[in-house]
Amino acid sequence: MATVNDNYLKLKAGYLFPEIARRVAAFTEANPDAPVIKLGIGDVTEPLPQACREAMIAAVNDMGDRGSFKGYGPEQGYLWLRDAIAKHDFQARGCDIDASEIFVSDGAKCDSGNILDIFGHDNTIAVTDPVYPVYVDTNVMAGNTGEADDSGKYGGLTYIPISAENNFTAAIPDTKVDLIYLCFPNNPTGATATKEQLQAWVDYARANGSIIFFDAAYEAFITDDSLPHSIFEIEGARDCAIEFRSFSKNAGFTGTRCAFTVVPKGLTAKAADGSEVELWKLWNRRQCTKFNGVSYIVQRGAEAVYSEAGQAQIKELIAFYLENAAIVREQLTAAGMDVFGGVNAPYVWVKAPNGLSSWDFFDKLLHTCNVVGTPGSGFGAAGEGYFRISAFNSRENVVEAMKRITEKFSV
Ligand SMILES: *Cc1c(COP(=O)(O)O)cnc(C)c1O
Repeated sequence: MATVNDNYLKLKAGYLFPEIARRVAAFTEANPDAPVIKLGIGDVTEPLPQACREAMIAAVNDMGDRGSFKGYGPEQGYLWLRDAIAKHDFQARGCDIDASEIFVSDGAKCDSGNILDIFGHDNTIAVTDPVYPVYVDTNVMAGNTGEADDSGKYGGLTYIPISAENNFTAAIPDTKVDLIYLCFPNNPTGATATKEQLQAWVDYARANGSIIFFDAAYEAFITDDSLPHSIFEIEGARDCAIEFRSFSKNAGFTGTRCAFTVVPKGLTAKAADGSEVELWKLWNRRQCTKFNGVSYIVQRGAEAVYSEAGQAQIKELIAFYLENAAIVREQLTAAGMDVFGGVNAPYVWVKAPNGLSSWDFFDKLLHTCNVVGTPGSGFGAAGEGYFRISAFNSRENVVEAMKRITEKFSV
């Protein structure tokens, strides 16, 4: 009989969101008239910017004309999009990144998982705790971990706690790790990393021959001008970092699908024979073999993000979500809760009041206020006692949810 990849059997059942759905369904069945507001989702709610829609409509029409029809495009993405990305997202911020180092894809989620294709299975791996679960689960699938313990931690992974106790800074490990996942602005905590903090990571990675996977999916939400948007703003990052970016959160492309990964030329890792191999070449080979590019129509939509109108429209979108986050922060603070994040990120990370566990707070909010959020413990053991509230929602829902919490929830 054929066999399966046994590593998949080590995965903890996708527990968090199904369990939230189960508890909400049970509650609404018992209370069919309860006006439940969901502030738990990591998906955008506002429609696509007009500039992107117009560009995609024009691109659809290009596809209807024999002269401008496009078949397979370059696996790496069309040069006009990669040029626009390199110029606006990197060169304009002083980063030495060229269009040839950008690989357009259909998602930062897929890329952050697929990147493991080009790395050995003997690497030691560090993630933050709490963490975006994709980093952990893709390593489990690839066979890079042992089994999970009762708290959900996998053998073989180094967990770097981030919490109020350490001001949500990821402390540099005192041991050597080969692959490090960093996500700033952070999902789920909304925390950010300063230039100095990222410099310390880059220095560590260069000293230890490590590679940093830097997920900057939320860079567009940075409002503090002193914060870096890209790891390539940091001296030496070309020698140790790969960056994931996405149009999902800045331009609402979660359902449209476009993202990119930056692999600097000259960045290397070691082969079994001890020689140094350029990661760009391996990723290029991987993409050319396993991926056939993002649709021409979607890439035209992504290109429009960089037009004058597109830039103005995404600024407005982000300002809208950040205003939601500000309302959440203000109201929960007024209700006596400790809140973090939500200033340079669309997530507010709340300390569950009165020593409640994440799930107890979830139940209490659902039952007393009919508001749904995400228990922090679902993102890792160090998330226990915290709660994530997403700013991705209508203003009306955010205002109403906060009104209920301030009126009905006594700390
Ligand atoms: C939403 C999100 C992404 C974006 O993923 P896409 O596949 O591009 O939609 C990447 N990383 C994190 C941490 C996210 O929350």
